[in-house]
Amino acid sequence: MDRRNFLRSSVAATLAASTPAWADWEDVLYLPTKIDGDIDAVKLDGSDFTLKQAEVQELSNALKGKLWLPGSAEYDEARTLLEPSFDKRPAFVIQPSGPADVSSAVRFARDNDLLTAVKCGGHSASGKSSCNGGMQIDLSRMRGVYVDPIAKTARVEGGSLLGELDHEAMAHGLVTTAGTVSHTGVGGLTLGGGFGRLARRFGLSLDNVLEFDVVTADGELRRASLEHNPNLYWALRGGGGNFGVVTSLLFQLHPMQREMITGSIVFPFDQARQVLSYFGEFADAAPDDMHIGMFMGGGPDDSPAGVGMYFDYSGTDTAYIDQLTSEAEKVGTVLANTTSSMDYVAVQRSGDYNDIRSFSGYMKTGFVGDFDGALIDDLLDGFEPAPGRRTSLVTQQAGGAIGRVANDATAFAHREAKHNLLSFVSWKHGEDGEAHKDYIRGHWDSVKHHSQGFYSNDLYDQEGDDVSFAYRGNFRRLQKIKKEVDPTNLFRLNANIQSA
Ligand code: FAD
Repeated sequence: MDRRNFLRSSVAATLAASTPAWADWEDVLYLPTKIDGDIDAVKLDGSDFTLKQAEVQELSNALKGKLWLPGSAEYDEARTLLEPSFDKRPAFVIQPSGPADVSSAVRFARDNDLLTAVKCGGHSASGKSSCNGGMQIDLSRMRGVYVDPIAKTARVEGGSLLGELDHEAMAHGLVTTAGTVSHTGVGGLTLGGGFGRLARRFGLSLDNVLEFDVVTADGELRRASLEHNPNLYWALRGGGGNFGVVTSLLFQLHPMQREMITGSIVFPFDQARQVLSYFGEFADAAPDDMHIGMFMGGGPDDSPAGVGMYFDYSGTDTAYIDQLTSEAEKVGTVLANTTSSMDYVAVQRSGDYNDIRSFSGYMKTGFVGDFDGALIDDLLDGFEPAPGRRTSLVTQQAGGAIGRVANDATAFAHREAKHNLLSFVSWKHGEDGEAHKDYIRGHWDSVKHHSQGFYSNDLYDQEGDDVSFAYRGNFRRLQKIKKEVDPTNLFRLNANIQSA
């Protein structure tokens, strides 16, 4: 044992024998996990192999953060994703404390051709932020948001959650676009796009990123911005986790008041056709500071299905919202109207427990243009709520500032879309969901022709969907950049861009 390891082991032994208060020191002392033996693992090509104990110990010793093995509570917490059915077991988990640890982990993975997953908020729809037999890089120790109120920017660490960004920025009367559930990861959401309540006003989350710091597959920490590595900067804005581990993002912030008007208006399901056609017209004429979506759904019990509109308005013309609610009274029978003024940060947390994507389930999604008669017919035909499942259709509005960026200005290639349409089914965790999945696939088959590709962040089963539809005209350029930056496709657990 060399001197450094001897000292570490003596500190560890002393700590183990000391009072519990010492445990709090674990994060400031470098106490590497002890690796007791060789580790069975999986390579990038899926084949099994064995990692030597000494190599893994060397990696563990090199970290300021932690390496966790199966059997520890931290390992189980890290591998757990929002969707509980993704029950994957990595060979081990790395929790980097910063970019230096990320580099060590990436170099180790590259040298061993080791299957590698990257986790930020754990919301991956396809469960690809964990893996079986590979290394999971869990960024949960890399959380922090540092606002510069003078420059109106926020430096955000790569493992941060959206709620942290909203909370810190709004403390200075500033915001940027973030998604609608506060425990979603800034990393995954932004690298794929970033729709949210303010996206029509300030652009997608990725439109607001001024620079990324990213550890690429060679283990180097690079800056990607207009000035540095502009191709990589282009690719990171929509190309997802394909190009490396993003350790920090610099966001542009915008001044905004704290209060916004938010609400939903619900109608009986048998009025769906008239409600949806009113929604389509109203959405088309909406200003940038309005975000409006439709929803319809039923189940999981025998309660009647419903249809309606939900909206978030960050403007100040209250007469505009009064017009919406009074027109709604003429459109159909309003069963409920929750319109109220609310604190923006509270609105951003209001979907934390009830967003359909938080439930165990399956979905199909696609970007659509006009919300017109033909689309409405196909949505309603074959839409079958059933007591054994929650059956939902919902849209997230695009357009506004999102649409004023050219399709090839960033890797995100759906600028002309008007809505992101999500068709979702969920059932009790642990029950067999195959019949429900079949239902959704069947219904989506008759709706799909209205869509022009899909959101890479919503990708569920890559096997069934051609990933190039997520990147459209930008796919070839992304393939070229992928080949340069990640020639072995180390970062493959995502909406994967295989090089040309
Ligand atoms: P993770 O599972 O941690 O990561 C997903 C993938 O992102 C990883 O596999 C990895 O490839 C990549 N990744 C994450 N962090 C990094 C990083 N730092 N560096 C490199 N790669 C990284 N989308 C919207 O646009 N708007 C919404 O309002 C919205 N709401 C949602 C609500 C819920 C409840 C859910 C489940 C999803 C929602 N989504 C929304 C979709 C969301 O954008 C994607 O699920 C996204 O991938 C989640 O990111 P994450 O970091 O939480 O997920």
